[in-house]
Amino acid sequence: MTNNCWFCTDDRGTDAPPGGWFLDDGTWRAGAAPPSMAAAGTVILEARRHVVDQGGFDEHEAATFVPVVGGLLAAMRTGLGCERVYQWSTMAAFEHFHVWLLPWRTSSLHEGPAHLVDVVHHPASDAEAAEAAARVAASMGVPA
Ligand SMILES: [Zn+2]
Repeated sequence: MTNNCWFCTDDRGTDAPPGGWFLDDGTWRAGAAPPSMAAAGTVILEARRHVVDQGGFDEHEAATFVPVVGGLLAAMRTGLGCERVYQWSTMAAFEHFHVWLLPWRTSSLHEGPAHLVDVVHHPASDAEAAEAAARVAASMGVPA
C-alpha cells in the first residue's frame, strides 16, 4: 500500500521538503526535515508503505533499506562535511516507519542523546535548511 504520508503528516502538508525529495523510488522517500523542526542538514527517510518498523518490512523493503540508508549517510557526510550521522527513530507520534538522520560534527556542542536534543531545539532558518538540502541533493546526484 502506498500512501501520501510524509512521516504521517498532520501539520506538514503535502509540499515537498526544502530542496525537494532526495529520493522517492516508490518504496522509500527522503528529504530535508522541515526547517521549523530540526537543525539544517537533518534528513528524514520514510517508508512509503504504512509499516511501523523493521519487524514489518516486506522482502523488498528489507533488501533495500540498508543500501538506501547507506547512500543517504554517505551523501550527508560528503555534502555537509559532518563526521557522523546520528539515526533516530521512535514512531512516537505516528505508527509509520521513519528515521531521522542528524549530522554530527566534532565541533557539535554535545554528543550522544544530548546532540539529538540540540538538533530539535535549534531549528534551522529557511535559508540554512535550503542551503544544506542543496548540498545533500548535490551529493545524491539529484538535479537542483
Ligand atoms: Zn503514515
